[in-house]
Amino acid sequence: MKKGLDVRICEVGPRDGLQNEQQPINTETKVAWINQLVDTGLPYIELTSFVHPKWIPALSDAREVVRGVRKKQNVTFGALVPNERGLERALEAGIDEIAISLSVSETHNRKNLNQSIEQTCSILMKVINEAKSAGKSIRGYLSMVFGCPYEGKVEIEQISSLSYRLLEMGVEEISLGDTIGIATPNQVEEVLKQVSNQVPITRIALHPHDTSGTALANTFAAYKVGVRAFDGSVGGLGGCPYAPGATGNVATEDLVYMFEGMGVDTGVQLEKVTQCALWIQSKLKRHLPSHRLQMALAQQKKGGVK
Ligand code: MG
Repeated sequence: MKKGLDVRICEVGPRDGLQNEQQPINTETKVAWINQLVDTGLPYIELTSFVHPKWIPALSDAREVVRGVRKKQNVTFGALVPNERGLERALEAGIDEIAISLSVSETHNRKNLNQSIEQTCSILMKVINEAKSAGKSIRGYLSMVFGCPYEGKVEIEQISSLSYRLLEMGVEEISLGDTIGIATPNQVEEVLKQVSNQVPITRIALHPHDTSGTALANTFAAYKVGVRAFDGSVGGLGGCPYAPGATGNVATEDLVYMFEGMGVDTGVQLEKVTQCALWIQSKLKRHLPSHRLQMALAQQKKGGVK
């Protein structure tokens, strides 16, 4: 964690947000937007995914985005990498940190990646080893942690053992994803308490989605049990691939507002990050779900304070 911060906010909008947006965004606009994000105080920005362009055409400009963004000290630039070919491209583009992803649900993993969890682990092991040899740190995402559209409830034992496995494989931080946004605070607390018996809580992050409106409550529950890293996307960009039209990731500015209001230092400037949300909303031409953003818009209309 960056020194001095009480919690670390990880911005995943350019990757997790934009990959789920219907409206295509050109490379120039992405770079201009990320350059604004760089100046907000965010310690981590996930720029893109080096997945095969055939799977996610919206992120086929991964290399150009990574190369185009203005780098800044104290900001870690990450990218999702699914395999060795992706890693090669990510390293070539000059990424700081590698993110990998795995589902805790066997059915979802097979549907999403066309592989069993075991097969994915063996591919990721190679990616991690090579990334480490290149001096890169690794962030790991576990998806469907709080429920899966195919399997329903996921056994906590499965979540704990895969978290531990990622740790053993060399992952520095494990981000637990509420991919379909169905978690509730008591469940978050219970899962995290059990997972932290196997993995230090300081190595765990929460990746909340606001599909059911519980993202901030879940964030608070995780904070109370000791989690100090949270993923968000500016404007609440993105969606849920399993629920068309549903809300996406928790909005970064809503996270920042809540923590700063609690006296918890995020290092992120609320005003600046809200401006980034306004800017990307104007490019996407759709109403983004972020609360702080909608408040800023309402105030602008009234001609009042931004
Ligand atoms: Mg997400």
